[in-house]
Amino acid sequence: MTEELNPFKIAQEQLDTAAKLLKLDPAVHSLLREPKRILEVTFPVRMDNGQVKAFKGFRVQYNDARGPCKGGIRFHPQETIDTVKALAAWMTWKTACVGIPLGGGKGGVICNPKEMSVGELERLSRAYIDAIGAIIGPELDIPAPDVYTTPQIMAWMVDEFAKIRGYNAPGVITGKPIALGGSEGRGDATARGAVYTIREASKRLNIPLRGATVAVQGYGNAGSYAAILMQEMGAQIIAVSDSKGGIVNDKGLGPNDVLQHKQKTGSVVGFPGAKPITNEALLELQCDILVPAALENVITTKNASRIKAKIIAEAANGPTTPEADDILFKNKVFDIPDFLCNAGGVTVSYFEWVQNIYGLYWPVEEVHDRLDKIMTKAFNDVWVMHTKHNVNMRMAAYMLSVQRVAEAMKLRGWV
Ligand code: NAD
Repeated sequence: MTEELNPFKIAQEQLDTAAKLLKLDPAVHSLLREPKRILEVTFPVRMDNGQVKAFKGFRVQYNDARGPCKGGIRFHPQETIDTVKALAAWMTWKTACVGIPLGGGKGGVICNPKEMSVGELERLSRAYIDAIGAIIGPELDIPAPDVYTTPQIMAWMVDEFAKIRGYNAPGVITGKPIALGGSEGRGDATARGAVYTIREASKRLNIPLRGATVAVQGYGNAGSYAAILMQEMGAQIIAVSDSKGGIVNDKGLGPNDVLQHKQKTGSVVGFPGAKPITNEALLELQCDILVPAALENVITTKNASRIKAKIIAEAANGPTTPEADDILFKNKVFDIPDFLCNAGGVTVSYFEWVQNIYGLYWPVEEVHDRLDKIMTKAFNDVWVMHTKHNVNMRMAAYMLSVQRVAEAMKLRGWV
């Protein structure tokens, strides 16, 4: 059988395994296999040359038993409904796993933001909100930034929503600039949350962080902050990469300097004193901790058995296929699954929503402290499931999250 790479099929397969282990009520299981609501929209945007172009977008509300749907919006030329559905499912498990009172959703627009002017991007962002405005809101579904969407785009979107409704509703969207009700600490929240889970794993596995060697694939928001924070905890960053290639230095790279180099030149490649390495070789490097922080499906049956890291921390969504998961588990590679590892972003988004509703804003120290407590508890809740059922951490996280969503569905009387 060929390895399944359709992200939604993978999400369904993972749910099916958890459902079997949990002996889940078949009615709950069948409801959880599909999104509650899918909206597909086609909307017009006037381009700078005066012509009107039609764009296609989606909003998927996967499950809202535990609270309003929550999930980002991607602007991507290869966006597909199956990717959006999978990401919406993972958001459902993610919010349940960290125990915040939200459900899961996701949105996307098929477009190439790299080829659009600022004006075109603003009109596209506003038109997308006009198209999905009826089904979003602070108590209904709360979008946020994701791949190729930014705080500025969130600002246009929150403004458009205010125009539609006739009043300000900052809690409709998170990831806003601080001047518009964004939260302190959102910028590095995903990486910080991931690093808290790595810290907890290192304690459980007796792998000291001080001196641990780390390789990071993807040097964007999640990857670069993760490298910087890991170094602050005493680890040594020996390799990093981006879409143009990777760099390695056994004696350690200065992650802040690498970031400056990337900001100046557009890539980590060519960083002084480092040797080049391919993205594929980086994954198989001898190191203690591997942080995939770029794309889906990078750890597959083709390379899983060659991975030498003791801990994999999935900052990216969906980097490991289910078949690769089994190989890693057999080889005793400890994998912190994506929807636990990268839940720091949605957790601080949740804090932003809470602060918007309260109209009271927290200092960054309070954000870090609250994030640490939530991530630490989530990691340890999953660890307990992992040891109790002798399943890998991903399956343990699934079991915990599915159980929590199922309980809410039952209490509501849906099944
Ligand atoms: P980003 O766009 O800031 O960074 C992505 C990085 O990956 C860039 O450095 C890019 O050059 C690199 N990259 C792209 N293609 C690559 C390839 N083929 N090989 C190696 N590197 C490649 O994105 P981000 O926000 O850091 O997101 C990265 C991952 O983390 C995604 O899977 C995303 O869904 C996930 N994630 C991000 C957040 C968040 O808050 N930013 C939250 C949860 C999950």
